Amino acid sequence: MRDAVARLYALIRLFAPAEASPFMSSETEVAIVGGGAAGIAAARRLTDAGVACLLIEARSRLGGRAYTVSHGGYGIDLGCGWLHSAGTNPFVAIAEAQGRTIDKSSPAWSRPALERNFPLVDQRLYQQAMAEYFERLSELATGKIDVLCSAAFEPGNRWNGLIGAVVSYISGGDPSQVSALDFENYGGTDINWRVAEGYGTLIAAHADGVDIALDTIVERIDHSGATLRIETNRGTIAAKHVIVTLPTDIIGARAELFFPLLPQKTEAAAGLPLGLADKLYLTLDNPEEFGRDTRVFGLTDSKDTASYTIRPQGRPQIEGYFGDGLADELERGGIHAFVDFAVGQLAGMLGNDFKKRVSLLDMHLWRADPFARGSYSFALPGKVNCRQALAAPIDGRLFFAGEACSKSDFSTAHGAYLTGLAAAEQILAARV
Ligand SMILES: Cc1cc2nc3c(=O)[nH]c(=O)nc-3n(C[C@H](O)[C@H](O)[C@H](O)COP(=O)(O)OP(=O)(O)OC[C@H]3O[C@@H](n4cnc5c(N)ncnc54)[C@H](O)[C@@H]3O)c2cc1C
Repeated sequence: MRDAVARLYALIRLFAPAEASPFMSSETEVAIVGGGAAGIAAARRLTDAGVACLLIEARSRLGGRAYTVSHGGYGIDLGCGWLHSAGTNPFVAIAEAQGRTIDKSSPAWSRPALERNFPLVDQRLYQQAMAEYFERLSELATGKIDVLCSAAFEPGNRWNGLIGAVVSYISGGDPSQVSALDFENYGGTDINWRVAEGYGTLIAAHADGVDIALDTIVERIDHSGATLRIETNRGTIAAKHVIVTLPTDIIGARAELFFPLLPQKTEAAAGLPLGLADKLYLTLDNPEEFGRDTRVFGLTDSKDTASYTIRPQGRPQIEGYFGDGLADELERGGIHAFVDFAVGQLAGMLGNDFKKRVSLLDMHLWRADPFARGSYSFALPGKVNCRQALAAPIDGRLFFAGEACSKSDFSTAHGAYLTGLAAAEQILAARV
């Protein structure tokens, strides 16, 4: 695994932008590693408080796993799309301040699915089985020993496949890997909104006016001396404090990221692997046949199925959602493997002629992305405390943030934001 990651980094260096020039200024008070929701939250707070800080980002764009692309005037979220727990989500106020259009219509998953391959009577049975599964899961999570989410399946239940698929969409992991206690610790509410211009657009714009170094890959954080040295492909930045917001699969696989090593961080990150969720967007001709935000499962009796939203936000598109093992397998075949799979499932339900009405719009492969290595974190059984261990500061100089550091809002953009803000507050408190 380590060798593979080292090879990957060698490749990344090879393809790093040719114009990667040295820094104008190589000193700052706070170096923030990673320009996703967590890093942006920290940088915004520190900048507003008048603290010199530099947001260091490997990509040529900000946002990380928040990533909006534009097609036909629509902002399309290839990463996070839902303002989960919208009643308390801090990005709602930020969206309002930015003058964004918030879509408060209910998500496809809270509406009945298309009946074509899923009669209403079966949908009710499935909902009932799902509610009972979650009750058993809650019960198991109160036990002394942490167990797997798969322990809550009722042997032989006809809906286990579909429940497993939904657990993989939520956690990114297979129920046979995910800690029941961690799953239960998630504190989301049922209020979920979207932002028409894109969640990624909103998050990246929150960094307006912040000092940013794009195309800058952090290779090592040297904390051996009185001054921290952040070594990058564009030179070394000296700092008094650092906030590390890298995804767990990057921290966990690269012990040498820290010098001297910080085994407690490497181990904590390894206990919180990134699950996989991938979103495929197709265009849809003559969409009016379907109501907006219509949900369809490709299969209702298997875990290896995608879930589709036809006409998301009323747009002439289909959004396919692929979780865990299925997404991992399809990533090996590239984007066209997803298209073939999705078109096959949709045509199986809606007839062969449906194939002529859809074509690829866009997609991002999150596992193959060297700066993400997956979609969102889940805890392995017995590893729930790794979230706290990852978030704990070291020496009053090294701070940690990112979605995986949140005890109850992990796997979300607003959870990442709150951890970034908390790290910035810790630094501000230490300065007075
Ligand atoms: C398909 C998908 C759907 C999702 N759906 C939702 C949703 O609906 N709602 C929701 O709230 N959340 C959702 N999420 C999760 C959400 O996007 C993440 O939890 C959140 O964006 C993570 O933010 P972060 O700042 O912790 O990490 P990141 O966004 O990953 O930020 C880390 C940054 O570090 C950078 N980086 C990596 N390596 C280096 C390096 N060596 N040097 C410098 N920089 C580096 C990365 O490029 C990245 O920008 C989804 C994610 C995916 C992938």
